[in-house]
Amino acid sequence: MTAPLAPGSVIGIIGGGQLGRMLAMAAARLGYRTIILEPQSGCPAAQVASRQIVAAYDDTAALAELAESSAVVTYEFENVPVAAANALAALVPVFPPPQALEVAQDRVVEKQFLNGIGIPTAHSSPVDNDEQLATALSRYHGNGVLKTRRMGYDGKGQRLFRNAVGGDLSGTWAAMGGVPLILEELVPFEREISVIAARGADGSFRAYDPANNVHRDGILHTSTVPADIAPATAAAAQDAARGILEALDYVGVIGVEFFVLGDGSLLVNEMAPRVHNSGHWTEAACAVSQFEQHIRAVADLPLGVPHRHSDCVMENLIGDDVARMPALLAEPDLVLHLYGKAESRPGRKMGHFTKLRRPAAGA
Ligand code: AMP
Repeated sequence: MTAPLAPGSVIGIIGGGQLGRMLAMAAARLGYRTIILEPQSGCPAAQVASRQIVAAYDDTAALAELAESSAVVTYEFENVPVAAANALAALVPVFPPPQALEVAQDRVVEKQFLNGIGIPTAHSSPVDNDEQLATALSRYHGNGVLKTRRMGYDGKGQRLFRNAVGGDLSGTWAAMGGVPLILEELVPFEREISVIAARGADGSFRAYDPANNVHRDGILHTSTVPADIAPATAAAAQDAARGILEALDYVGVIGVEFFVLGDGSLLVNEMAPRVHNSGHWTEAACAVSQFEQHIRAVADLPLGVPHRHSDCVMENLIGDDVARMPALLAEPDLVLHLYGKAESRPGRKMGHFTKLRRPAAGA
């Protein structure tokens, strides 16, 4: 694109979950319409979008229709088939670039990319059978996290090993699905943080302050801002995000998760080429949320200043947590957001809320 997307234009979004829903809402506020490509009809995003194409993400006719109907296409999840993203990119601008999907879809490729641009990660070894697992585990003194290389999220497809040298590992690879795996060294982190950053088509860069993330059962539970880290650690995390965005010639918002070690140094855990759960607090505590920031980037509008007016804690509502709604609504300075999912199931993200604490320093 050479000029900002005109109000009234259509933005295509691949994926119809809560992230697509919040992108569609932000797009609407800036005067855009949205089309959602998602196989499940009546999905959270389609409820607030102008239109839905009900089809698989790799359906050729549906992708052609999406390209035909949209001025620009983006996506809300990192497992969009790369071939589909590339086919679309031949017809219509696609942001973030499909290369970001390629890198983020495979944990081995992701680490090679990050290490190649000088960003450290946990030591790791590809594992394709039980023998390779035994060799890799002994390399890390029996302490590691075994993960599927592809399609993992919210701690799914993971197994933790502690002091597991010399144990019987037979059947482990098969039990993990018989798919390509990676063993990561168990990182003795002090805390987990993430940075939500954005890059515009003109190369401009903006990063929100890092959030401190706490997980429960592998799923994000809370994000607290500011994170309790030294200013130099926060700056290093934002610099790493900038390096990633520049290396990918990226346009849009990215979420980068880090482990913070005892000495304040950082390892990247993973990156998500999309808006991110640990950035939901920006909707309540910043004038420009991560969702608007992403829409601004893909629409070639100036990026927003990522200042925070309030310190805050975001908490996810998982499964039956959604029953807390009446009590939450009675609290002051609390912004609640539900995703329009009819059925609550254990482990399913139903909504989140952000509790504003106090004005941020300097706000
Ligand atoms: P992931 O799906 O890779 O983000 O992992 C989910 C969570 O598991 C992370 O947020 C960490 O809390 C934990 N975890 C993942 N990998 C490691 C590791 N190599 N060392 C220690 N903890 C880990």
